[in-house]
Amino acid sequence: MSHINTKCVQEGYEPKSGEPRVLPIYQSTTFKYEDAETLGDLFDFNASGHFYTRLSNPTVEAVEKKIAALEGGVGAMLCSSGQGATTAAILTVCSAGDHIVSSSSIYGGSFNLLNITLRKLGIDTTFIAPDAKPEEIEAAIRPETKLLFGETVANPALTVLDIEVWAEVAHKNQMPLFVDNTFPSPVNCRPFEWGADIVLHSTSKYMDGHAMALGGCVVDSGKFDWTASERFKAFCSPDESYHGLKYPEKFGAAAFIAKARAQLMRDVGMMMSPMNAFLLNVGLETLHLRMPAHCSNAQKVAEFLESNPKIAWVNFPGLRSNKYYGLAEKYMPNGTCGVISFGIKGGRAAAGKFMESVKLAAPVIHVADARTCVLHPASTTHRQLSDQQLIDCGVTPDLIRMSVGIEHVDDIIADISQALEKCL
Ligand SMILES: *Cc1c(COP(=O)(O)O)cnc(C)c1O
Repeated sequence: MSHINTKCVQEGYEPKSGEPRVLPIYQSTTFKYEDAETLGDLFDFNASGHFYTRLSNPTVEAVEKKIAALEGGVGAMLCSSGQGATTAAILTVCSAGDHIVSSSSIYGGSFNLLNITLRKLGIDTTFIAPDAKPEEIEAAIRPETKLLFGETVANPALTVLDIEVWAEVAHKNQMPLFVDNTFPSPVNCRPFEWGADIVLHSTSKYMDGHAMALGGCVVDSGKFDWTASERFKAFCSPDESYHGLKYPEKFGAAAFIAKARAQLMRDVGMMMSPMNAFLLNVGLETLHLRMPAHCSNAQKVAEFLESNPKIAWVNFPGLRSNKYYGLAEKYMPNGTCGVISFGIKGGRAAAGKFMESVKLAAPVIHVADARTCVLHPASTTHRQLSDQQLIDCGVTPDLIRMSVGIEHVDDIIADISQALEKCL
């Protein structure tokens, strides 16, 4: 299976003669064995097999294999949500006293996780601009820094991360680069090919693609050498809860996911359910068809908006006028994603009128599914904030975020046009 299209459809599950063609839902918490000895071997990692769905399940495992293959990684772990995946990945390498350097242009949930919850656990984060120069990234690194963090295409700011630059600084300082690759999906960008070490996904977005099931995924490239870095003594030290097992020694290149599962998933339990893994897999089977459709529709909508006199500004990395056009061309020559943000002349009031007037595009708190949707942060997610406070956090009062779906683009544009008519 050399093409990503084929991997989307078939990777991860290979039925034998007479078995179901479709990945079955193993709706079982536990698995039967003939004797206690086999179970003991499973617990000690001396045999492979499933024994409790919090740690692994055949349906979930098949989808993990598919996503690992799509990203070109050695292993993956599915979680109950994107937030769960980011938390599990970070806590696999960080503990109290450690430090993270993150791009400031990241998803709000990830920002809160780093800025609020992880700080409470004693893990500190320094935020720097996504466009920081190598010297600036380096200046933020401390002896206790464990990783760099960024988003390929940030939600909602749509900045594009210069993955090669961040990866180079990370590796020079013997630490991994974690990249949230939710928006482009592996169909449009595979961060491992540019030096990222750990990739994160909210599978709730394009991977699922139909807004059916929340989910998240941690993927490991297998390339980061944990034993060679001074910073990961704790990662490589014996795990007393597994008779002194050392993850890099036992699992080699697959150490990260093994540790994430054996410790974080065991102790925190943010696993994906078999039913959600089944739904996610149905979504993944058409990811390679949906991504180009989202991108080409979004490109046409962005160009339409840019040429419309009622529009004040448009932010979409596929537009030549965009600050990130060059980086988007480099990392995502086939398109970035279907999300656009724009402002209508007339500010907050005009935006409110637009939101009221769209018919095909629905106002929902979501992005990246088959149906076109819109969000006006100033009147919903950020409604407590004043105009000045909005501007301070990078959300202008007029900002509308549109997730362009895969309906016919002429219908989407006609809907936007009729709503704009009502605005001024
Ligand atoms: C939505 C999102 C998340 C969080 O994912 P959930 O599945 O909603 O927990 C993380 N990162 C990005 C880029 C997202 O868009």
